[in-house]
Amino acid sequence: MPVCAPSGLRSRATRALSLISLAVLWTAACSSPAGGTPGTDPTAALPLPGPEDGRSGSEEGGDTSVDDEAVPPGDGPLGGRVVVIDPGHNGGNADAASEINSLVPAGNGEKACDTVGTESAGGYSEHEFNWDLSLLVQERLEADGATVILTREDNEGVGPCIDERAEIGNRNDADAALSIHADGGPESGRGFHVIAPGELAGLTEDIVEPSALLAEDIRREYREGTDVPYADYLAEDGLDERTDLGGLNLSEVPKVFLEAGNMRNAEDAELLEDPRWRADAADAIARGLAVYLMRD
Ligand SMILES: [Zn+2]
Repeated sequence: MPVCAPSGLRSRATRALSLISLAVLWTAACSSPAGGTPGTDPTAALPLPGPEDGRSGSEEGGDTSVDDEAVPPGDGPLGGRVVVIDPGHNGGNADAASEINSLVPAGNGEKACDTVGTESAGGYSEHEFNWDLSLLVQERLEADGATVILTREDNEGVGPCIDERAEIGNRNDADAALSIHADGGPESGRGFHVIAPGELAGLTEDIVEPSALLAEDIRREYREGTDVPYADYLAEDGLDERTDLGGLNLSEVPKVFLEAGNMRNAEDAELLEDPRWRADAADAIARGLAVYLMRD
């Protein structure tokens, strides 16, 4: 755990609190102790709704210091922030070869609209993993007030194409966008990595820097919050930079890809297939996003 992270906040009811406590502490650069003077940071005193709460629990907080902030009921520390979560691939892609093989713009060339993705030796598909984990991350961010937009509605359809996945982030002027994937690497290699956009003139110049920060925040929280090590078969210390991914090249908002583990590796697959592990992974990813969103 990071030195500033609160401990012991693992239950579902306190998940939102855990998420934001860390972000607030991180933003404050750990300069004040937990439980420090309320009111110095407006977000520090916000009532924090649990996932089931329709309204904020201000009667429990008993701290009125945020009243003059006019925070709407049900809003939270991430209120007003827009996050696009892009669950990689789709369940119908395998039966729609011509559609997903059609070429679409990828910024510096053309690429296939989409791909099928990988699967574990046990037959757990990447598109299903991506979908499930994305929903869990959405739930956590929404509990803290963020607006979360997914790039697909279910796990039964086809696509959307990679250029449209990027466009969804642009169209919604997202504060951050995250593509969730799991890799199909060599069986002997394990671990996760985060891919940030490399610089391409006329395309990614504006997003390279913020995306690198987003990548660092997600990498740190994911490493701390899961048992998955940095990938040992590619990238460097869990970070990679690429200029061949249309989903990054065409993004006008800070965006990264998470390759959450290697589905072809038995150790990683055992974790990815475990629903309890996925809940922890979603906590970590949401924390990473929250830390990034509260940087400014
Ligand atoms: Zn993938």
